[in-house]
Formats: sequence, structure tokens, C-alpha cells
Amino acid sequence: MKHQITSAKFQMNSGHGNCKQNVFGHLNLKTGTYLGFGICDLEFDTGLEMTILEVLNWSTHYLEGHRVENPRLNAELLLARSLNLNRERLYMRLHDQVEERDKEVLEKLIQRRISGEPLQYILEHQEFWSLDFRVDPRALIPRPETELLVEQSLLILAESSLSRIPSVLEIGTGSGAIAIALAKELRNIFVVATDISMEALVLARENAKSAGIQHQIRFVKGDLFGPLRLPKAGAPFDLILSNPPYITRSRIRTLAREVKDYEPRVALDGGEDGLAFYRRIIPEARLYLGEGGWLLLEVALGQSGVVSEMIEEEGHFREPESIPDLSGIGRVVKAQRK
Ligand code: SAM
Ligand code: GLN
Repeated sequence: MKHQITSAKFQMNSGHGNCKQNVFGHLNLKTGTYLGFGICDLEFDTGLEMTILEVLNWSTHYLEGHRVENPRLNAELLLARSLNLNRERLYMRLHDQVEERDKEVLEKLIQRRISGEPLQYILEHQEFWSLDFRVDPRALIPRPETELLVEQSLLILAESSLSRIPSVLEIGTGSGAIAIALAKELRNIFVVATDISMEALVLARENAKSAGIQHQIRFVKGDLFGPLRLPKAGAPFDLILSNPPYITRSRIRTLAREVKDYEPRVALDGGEDGLAFYRRIIPEARLYLGEGGWLLLEVALGQSGVVSEMIEEEGHFREPESIPDLSGIGRVVKAQRK
């Protein structure tokens, strides 16, 4: 069954494929309103000329109908990718016609997005600390809140008056975002970045190379401190930081499908109570830190109190400090080795 609303210059196909409902929808491209009563197969009508603006509006409503958050932004970025343009150029060409083959590319991208794949995996990019990172299912997509860990580490490293090259250890580097942001900011530091996932490390190495700082980072595979040699004398690191998996296992299935179905489980699962990694990292970290060295940990909302207590109880650190994020909730716990 086909419905064509010629005045609105678009057509929806329904009643075949995986379309469960017929569509009685009307998209008014002039006012941008959409009165839809069902969801149709995603298929731009072949032979129907559509401008970038029209395709954009259509895609936005389609994504919205499938409950994709920020449908306009998603539509813009997916269309820009299909046309090999950036968003600025897309806006300069709103009245250009979209070619048939570009519509087909877009259809496939939209299909992936509505089945739950994160936008960043489709575009294979994520910005972090104003740097462009390649991201794909090999590693967690770096989150904006993790920039707080970078910021706090930079403050500490900038204040330290070391006579040697500062050395940093990142546990669980994923895409490499944190380690690379630090190395890019401070060209005199050396970072060891570990991960248990070999495929994440391969991605992180690619990112380090693109950022041009691969000589400042050594990527090591293994279980937390496992691959590192315990120092015989002195301490190898001035700062140890980690954004470990911290989601309570039973809560993983309640996360958005973008996260639970697409991001690596090994990057999320923090054990029965979400604290498994802090329990292991805190006592071991002190063996790798000299006097005055720092430990910085990202925590989930609500975990900063208990993680601070764990550090206090360990006994080798001065009083930990909880750093709030923009919403005022503790996001990073930092403590200095006695
Ligand atoms: N640092 C990245 C970021 O902030 O975007 C990734 C953080 S992700 C929450 C946690 C990372 O820890 C994942 O890359 C995961 O593979 C790694 N990981 C999980 N278990 C580990 C273990 N036992 N030893 C080392 N790394 C581990
Ligand atoms: N920040 C991620 C999320 O909330 C979780 C990452 C982690 O476990 N450290 O989805």
C-alpha cells in the first residue's frame, strides 16, 4: 500500500517488509509539523526529487517516530555523512537535490540508528577534550563527564615540580581518550596505558598515532596492574588514574540499548555492587606510587562517598577529595599518597 501526499512532496511505503502498521501520516514541510499515526518502512520514494532540507525534515520525523533522542541532530549528522559533507556545508546547500544513491546510503544509516546502534559508532567519531577520536565497538565511547578526570590530572601535573619526566599510569584506557588528551596537553610526560581488551588497545594505538603522540604512550595488555613489574626501588608513577567499569551488574540491563547492546560489556560491568574495580585498584595503586603521588578515579553518581571511605581505610593516602561535576555530584575522587 502506498500513500502519496504530493503537496508535501514525500511518499511513504508501508504494508511490506517489517512494517507492522499502515501509515497515515502527513508531513508539512513548510511548517515542519508531522501528524503521524504509525511508522512506515524507511524508503525514500525513487524518482521523487527531494532537497536536502526536505530529506532532513523527513529523516528527523522518522527518527523522532522511532524515539531516537535528538532526532534533528542525528538526522543532520547522518545526512551529512551520506553526502560526505560537514554540517556547515550541509546548511549551505539546503536547497540542492539529493541524489538517489545518497538517499540509499542514508536509509541504511538511519536503519542502523533506529535499531539502537549509537550515533558515534555509525559515524566512527567522538570528540573528547576537543580532540577527534575514532570510536567503534572495540571500545567504550568516551563520555563528556570523563573530561573532569583529565582536567584534575592536568592541574596536579602542572603544579608538580618534578625534576624528572612525569610518569602517568592509566588503567583501562579503552579508546585511549584520557591518556591521549594528557599526552597532547603535556608534551613532557610519559604515559603507560593498560587494558584487558586487546581490540581496545589496537584502537587506542590508532588514536595515539592520529594524534601524533604515540611516542609518549606505551600501551600494555593485561589485568589491571598484572602486566607491570613491581618496582624494586622507588616508584614508577607520579599519577595513576582510571575510569574503571563501575555499573552495578544487575543495572546493566536497565541501561539504554545503545549502551547495553552495543558497548563492550567488559567496559561497563563493575561487579555485584559496581565497586569491584575500586576494591582491587586502591590497595595496588599505592605500591606503584611514591610519596606524594596521586590516585584519581572516576566514579558513578552516588559512589564518591564509599570510594573515598575505601581509600581512607586503605591507610596509605591522605584524606581523599571528591570533585563534583557540573551538576554538583562527586564524579572524581582524588587522593595523595602519604
Ligand atoms: N578510559 C576509557 C574512557 O574513559 O573512555 C574507557 C573506560 S571503560 C569505563 C573501562 C575500561 O577498562 C574498558 O576499556 C575495559 O576494557 C577496561 N577493563 C575492564 N576490565 C579490566 C581489567 N581487569 N584490567 C584492565 N582493564 C580492564
Ligand atoms: N559512563 C558510562 C555510562 O554511564 C559507564 C562507564 C563506566 O562504567 N565507567 O554508561
